[in-house]
Amino acid sequence: MLSGRVSRLKPSATLTITARAKELRSKGVDVIGFGAGEPDFDTPDFVKEACIKALRDGKTKYAPSAGIPELREAIAEKLLKENGVEYRPSEIVVSSGSKMILFLILTAILNEGEEVLIPSPYWVTYPEQVNVLGGVPVEVPLKEEEGFVLTADRIRDRITDRTKALILNSPNNPTGAVYPEEELRKIAEICVENGIFIISDECYEKMVYEGSFVSVASLSEEVKDITFTVNSFSKTFSMTGWRLGYVACPEKYAKVIASLNSQTVSNATTFAQYGALEALKNPEGEKFVRRMVSEFRKRRDKAFELLSSIPNVSVVKPEGAFYIFPNFSFYSKETGGDIRLAEILLEEGKVACVPGSAFGAEGYMRISYALSIDRVEEGINRIRTTLERLS
Ligand code: PMP
Ligand code: GLU
Repeated sequence: MLSGRVSRLKPSATLTITARAKELRSKGVDVIGFGAGEPDFDTPDFVKEACIKALRDGKTKYAPSAGIPELREAIAEKLLKENGVEYRPSEIVVSSGSKMILFLILTAILNEGEEVLIPSPYWVTYPEQVNVLGGVPVEVPLKEEEGFVLTADRIRDRITDRTKALILNSPNNPTGAVYPEEELRKIAEICVENGIFIISDECYEKMVYEGSFVSVASLSEEVKDITFTVNSFSKTFSMTGWRLGYVACPEKYAKVIASLNSQTVSNATTFAQYGALEALKNPEGEKFVRRMVSEFRKRRDKAFELLSSIPNVSVVKPEGAFYIFPNFSFYSKETGGDIRLAEILLEEGKVACVPGSAFGAEGYMRISYALSIDRVEEGINRIRTTLERLS
């Protein structure tokens, strides 16, 4: 008999759709994959070379559980320089992707029955991890009319004496919302007042097209004391398969997270960490990111323009990340839900999208525009034709 905790566990919908689109493509079907939550750019060569060199130099053994010292130092420098927040290397833990980092943080803080506030629409993994660990995910519903931005009032309503943490994700997956600094300040203040941890998932920090990114921990020392700053190499340097993410937090928590890391993955892959080190240190890294983001901006503009022109569809212009989240509820009502609509889009339109219900938002569809602009255009035209045929 399996544990009750996994009885409701769902596999990652985003990974499932990505795999399905890849499978169809391998069979020769011309599927446009809007499902994948990963940049379509290759990992930069200088990063690969550093990793190859590390392999040749024999960096093939266990490494310290919290990460190789050089990488933790480079991350501390990055956080100070780019995010205006001062962490010591001893306050940083590197693990196998930020997904694992999130799991370790939640393992470290959650007791049975404690609640975690999760703004909804949310990234698929947050509520699943909380559930598996015996916590209770509490959705904080956000509104399309407000651009899916979290406000302090919305979280105030949901706080109970069991609230343990709030997960923030700005720029947001799946909505592309970027939270303004004034709102983040108010939200952080409430968390400080109520002793609620902030888990700030900053994986998409570089992909911002409107407004500017603010790292929550930079707001004040008090905020920093209750914040777990989470980041990843996956999106910034197009390194999704390398599985490298990290957390920065007060040392007393970092020590526990490093111990949990030592009892689970041992350490993030040793030679891969040398690649990540090069990504942070080499001035080419910044140029690579700038090029990628400028490409994403063009695609975002195109995707927004095309989706906005489909009858009976509303869509918020995303300010960050590489997702756009149109409201297709007019059409999903006709198909009996967005899961069926996604199937129809795949079967008839040959376009793979992730249904909004996977993100807690029935009737929406997540489109990842990590594809060439021509494919973005072709894919949205296919969606349009399929939807028009439905009505
Ligand atoms: N957070 C968010 C919001 C994501 O979209 C993802 C997916 N890449 C992750 C965390 C996990 O990324 P990784 O484990 O590759 O670092
Ligand atoms: N985070 C990406 C996404 O949302 C990758 C898939 C995953 O990790 O679940 O599609």
